[in-house]
Amino acid sequence: RPLGHGVVLSAVRQPCRVMLLVNPQSGKGQALGLYNGHIQRMLSEAEVPHTLLITERKNHARELVREADLSQWDALVIISGDGLLYEVINGLLEREDWEQAIHTPLGILPGGSGNALAASIHHYSGAPLVSSEELLVSCGFILCKGLVSRMDLISVHLGSGQRLFSFLSLAWGFVADVDVESEKYRHVGAARFTVGTLVRLASLRVYRGRLSYLPVADGDDAERGVIPNGAQHTFHNSCNSNNALKAKRRDPPMLTGPTDTLLAPVDRPVPSDWVVVPEEDFVLMLAMYQSCLAEDLLAAPNATLDQGVIHLMYVKAGITRASLLKLFLAMEKGTHLATSCPHLEYSRVRALRLEPYAPKGLITVDGEAVEYGPVQAQVHRGLARMITG
Ligand code: ADP
Ligand code: MG
Repeated sequence: RPLGHGVVLSAVRQPCRVMLLVNPQSGKGQALGLYNGHIQRMLSEAEVPHTLLITERKNHARELVREADLSQWDALVIISGDGLLYEVINGLLEREDWEQAIHTPLGILPGGSGNALAASIHHYSGAPLVSSEELLVSCGFILCKGLVSRMDLISVHLGSGQRLFSFLSLAWGFVADVDVESEKYRHVGAARFTVGTLVRLASLRVYRGRLSYLPVADGDDAERGVIPNGAQHTFHNSCNSNNALKAKRRDPPMLTGPTDTLLAPVDRPVPSDWVVVPEEDFVLMLAMYQSCLAEDLLAAPNATLDQGVIHLMYVKAGITRASLLKLFLAMEKGTHLATSCPHLEYSRVRALRLEPYAPKGLITVDGEAVEYGPVQAQVHRGLARMITG
């Protein structure tokens, strides 16, 4: 059923069933400890019944969600980093009933080393950035409150024709290299990105390719909220309303999920209303759709959960190490876009295409490496449902 109209939580309190997915390997390997130490007590005090499922391997959560009988669950919540939510979202969109399945309220409790979405949701509540345990407790309260909002998803096409869905970021160059190289410092937790950034700065390099994008038009409908904005309800309200959803299919069809109306085939030129960036030498390209790139990095300070906008940033080659470091330091406060750094460009876009020239390299989606090669992406406004404060 469509989003409700702000029903008061206490008036409709009834048992709701939360599937709580925990990745015991995420971050420093402490996600189960965070559950036992905080979350279990918070959820029982808030009378939110839940079932704990511990993932055993990569893609386990994705398979569980793809096959689940969603009529049994009122929300799917993860305790891990962004990587586990990525699996949940892609699992939902691989289902034959994806259109209803992706309306299942999702929640995130930071238990990984990359907790950017949790940090973004905390940031949208208006509170100053916090990390570690403080962030966990804040997200625990948000979950117990149970307000559900729409969240944008970005459809990403890889060179092989594979399509996947992203909720956070698409990166190439410096940021993608740090995402992947810093995996080996995961024992230091969220500090892995700081360490990775300093290491990469020492061996700064140039990445060549062609970047194109579809800018947000002035006075565009989506900007003015003509696309219905998410009237909030709580996931507690939607208890037992999912009975129509029954997962029966074993083999997901070839292409599930929404149609990408903004993209031309990747072997054809971009449509005429796109902008082709004149530069071909870059230090980084970063497309963000939520505000935080990490717990302490406000990369897209103006982003909101469901504005239907990709915040596209790129840094042109020729920037000095000192200036790049300054940009990352400014990002901790979200002031980097205001520093008027001549090498940094920023645009609000609906879709983009990146064609790297080198045959090898790294591209990350939501912090995880994907197949390298030409990639294009477009936003789907408010496609998912997220539990927010
Ligand atoms: P982090 O922020 O620490 O990277 P993530 O949630 O991103 O945490 O998880 C990292 C990776 O671990 C993800 O790609 C996820 O698919 C994978 N994963 C999930 N469960 C397990 C498991 N039991 N063992 C190993 N890897 C797992
Ligand atoms: Mg991760």
